[in-house]
Amino acid sequence: MVPFSVPHKAKNQERYVLDALGATHVHGDGAYSRKAAAALRALSGAGEVLLVPSASHALELIFWDLPPRAEVILPAYTFPSAANAVLRGGGRVVLCDVEPASLSMDPHAAAAKITADTYALCVTHYAGIACDMDAFESLARERGTLLVEDAAECLGAAHTGRPLGGIGHFGCYSFHGTKNITCGEGGAYIQRATADAAFDAALCHREKGTNRHKFLRGEAPFYSWEMTGSSLLLAEPLCAMLLAQLEELDEVTARRRALCAAYAERLAGLFASERLVPMSVPAHAFANGHAWHVRCRSLDERRRVQRITAEKGVICLPHYVPLHLGSMGRALGYRPGDFPHSERAWETVLRLPLFSAMRMDQVDAVCDAVRGALA
Ligand SMILES: *Cc1c(COP(=O)(O)O)cnc(C)c1O
Repeated sequence: MVPFSVPHKAKNQERYVLDALGATHVHGDGAYSRKAAAALRALSGAGEVLLVPSASHALELIFWDLPPRAEVILPAYTFPSAANAVLRGGGRVVLCDVEPASLSMDPHAAAAKITADTYALCVTHYAGIACDMDAFESLARERGTLLVEDAAECLGAAHTGRPLGGIGHFGCYSFHGTKNITCGEGGAYIQRATADAAFDAALCHREKGTNRHKFLRGEAPFYSWEMTGSSLLLAEPLCAMLLAQLEELDEVTARRRALCAAYAERLAGLFASERLVPMSVPAHAFANGHAWHVRCRSLDERRRVQRITAEKGVICLPHYVPLHLGSMGRALGYRPGDFPHSERAWETVLRLPLFSAMRMDQVDAVCDAVRGALA
């Protein structure tokens, strides 16, 4: 039996969590939160980091109050979080297709969608592999838009040596149980600039729309309702678990990368005979080993490999149903056939099991099962 994903367990997590549970300050923005945020600032190179209950919430903070008619360009092949955040912020979701090899947003397709109302380009680095950030940075600069990174699965990954999540104007990480580093549910809001008006607004939105952060810093005698908001802090026990996990990020990344390399080596025969297409990692990308997938030749074959491996107790999974194929995408006016590379990715991608505690004999078992299914 090989599960698809198992959350990483850090050596110190129980000790830190018990310590946090015993403190009088168990809500957000306590000592563990400050330490974890400082670690994430160092890891991302970003100016500011806020811990929030999920990456979805971080994206909501980024797109909280959009200007009238604001459009945000997103890939069709991604998770719905950013699209939800744009709609909740009063903006318009503009989808475009992905590149057939990287499965990240295609810069040419995105450029064709830019209008006078484009507020931001929101890229997803698919599978923890940097998208073509040089192209997106030029595009954002030339056309005067913001660049946002949905780097939910990208902690520890980089583009030409620059940490993902800290390259665009805004970014996010997720610490959901399926990500490399986890605290069960959690996320980080990331912004490149330090202490500006956007950050001040994010602090207010996150604290029920109040300027409580100013009160806590002694800059205001009381705090009051200043703008719309919600309650988007991460409680101390979860921050404690997160800190323990962050201390092991390098080991986790190295282990996951070694497992990916083992898959590539053991399945080389199927790639050579073109029964499967391997995941490609461009030269500009340092992958964090978040995921390892293969591409099957057809939807039928992907379904068959998924079923036959499952019969052997090996859990392999497809990935995103493109946003335009769900009811929400249809309601936005999109139709099947609009984004062929995204649809093809949904049909043919099969993700193989990958987790930090995975053993090499389990990699062998997965590869045997995949080989058997294609025999
Ligand atoms: C996991 C993931 C999310 C959502 O993260 P949460 O922390 O669960 O909200 C968003 N976008 C991408 C690309 C993801 O992989």
